[in-house]
Formats: sequence, structure tokens, C-alpha cells
Amino acid sequence: MAGLDEIMENVALANRMLFEMELADASTIERGHVSYRLPDEPGRFVIKGLGPALSQTYAEHMVVVNTDGFKVSGPPEMNLPNEVKMHSCLLRERPEINSVVHVHPRYTVLMSVLQEQLGPMCIEGMPLFAKGIPMFLSPRLIIHEKDGAEVAELMGESDAIMLQGHGAATVGADMEDAMLNMLHLEEQAKMNYLAFCAVGRDHAVITPEQRQEFIANMRTLPEAEHLKPELAPTPRKPSGIWSHYAEMADM
Ligand SMILES: [Zn+2]
Repeated sequence: MAGLDEIMENVALANRMLFEMELADASTIERGHVSYRLPDEPGRFVIKGLGPALSQTYAEHMVVVNTDGFKVSGPPEMNLPNEVKMHSCLLRERPEINSVVHVHPRYTVLMSVLQEQLGPMCIEGMPLFAKGIPMFLSPRLIIHEKDGAEVAELMGESDAIMLQGHGAATVGADMEDAMLNMLHLEEQAKMNYLAFCAVGRDHAVITPEQRQEFIANMRTLPEAEHLKPELAPTPRKPSGIWSHYAEMADM
């Protein structure tokens, strides 16, 4: 199992990847953070401290926090991020997740103001809709325990929540799942925006029946004789997306 130093390197890398994935840019480059639960101490997690741009985040910027949202260890000069309660509340309330991602991605923010709900517009990220994508109906930052608790309650078992006029949070069993959920949420928001511009609020979406057909078809994958020699576990990890952006963020 990875030691604390290695975990801090990996969490720092994931933070840099958010920039490479264009989930943070010029005005939002210091907004957001990835957290990861310590495998040996499930009541604690590693998160990026306050200050550095996502593109300039390294292991020395990491802090260890408990699931009540208080700093346990880390450089004395490194404060907790303002919105640490979003991470602590989600990691405390949901033992099945080990990572939380929060950023302010532009299309997601835009659509959270323009349209009450996103609809599925492409297959990338379509599973997010199965559990629903709730909305926190305020742009205020998640500074206090009551707001972190409300985010966790609204989210329920969902993998993503939109924060109106502010950003989003996504979760996963590991950092890759949590990061790809955010990448795909933003892709869906972008597709919704384009549809909104083309035909307005009442644009078509992929129907629940079509989603079911997609899922049923994917379940037949192991039966495809011609694919069997190369058939790898689905999803493969690390995915091509993860490998690409990890390399970009490591250069
Ligand atoms: Zn925020």
C-alpha cells in the first residue's frame, strides 16, 4: 500500500491534472481541490492546501485533515482550503467513496444558472444521470459545517452535484473515478450549453429508454466472441484519459 509521501505526490498530480483537463483556467486556476482518503486511516484524508494554482501544486502543498474538517498535519504555513467542509462532510457520510473533486468549471457553472437540470446529451458521462445530478441552490462557498452537511445530504448516493453559479463536486471510489466524473459532468454541461444555444431550453435529450438500451447493449460485451482475446476488465485502469493527462501534468 502506498505510503503518505506517495499519496501526497499522487494527490498533487491529480490537482495539476485538473488544469490540464481545462476544468480550471485563467480566473479559476486557484479554485478547487482534490482530496483522497488515507487507506490506513479512513477518518483522515489528504487535500491541497490554500493558495497555489492548480497547475503549480506539489506534494509540499498537501495537508492531512480529519473528517470533521480540521487540520491534522502539514506545513505550518499551509492553511486549509476555504471549502474543506465539502470534502470532510462527504468523506465522513459516505464510507464507500475515497475521493472528492471540487472545481468551478465554466460550462457547468453557466448551465447551473441557465437551466435547472442537465439532460444527457452524449454517452460520455451518461451514467451520472442514473443516480441524478442534484443542485445546491446558492453560489455561496461551502465554508461551514451546515453547508457541507447539506451538500452531502442533497447528493445522497449521486456521483456529482452542481453548485449554482459556483461549481460542482464529484466523488468516486478512487481519484480516477472522481476526476473522470468531473470531466464528464463538464462535457455534458458543454453539450447542454450548445443545445441550449441552438434550440433553447426545451432541447431534446437522450431518453431514459435510449439510456437503458445503451446499458443493456454494453452488458453483452463479454459475449462478443471476436473481442474476447483482448477483452480487459471494464473499466480499464488507468484509463487512456487518465494516462494522457497524468503525463501532461508531469511534464
Ligand atoms: Zn468552490
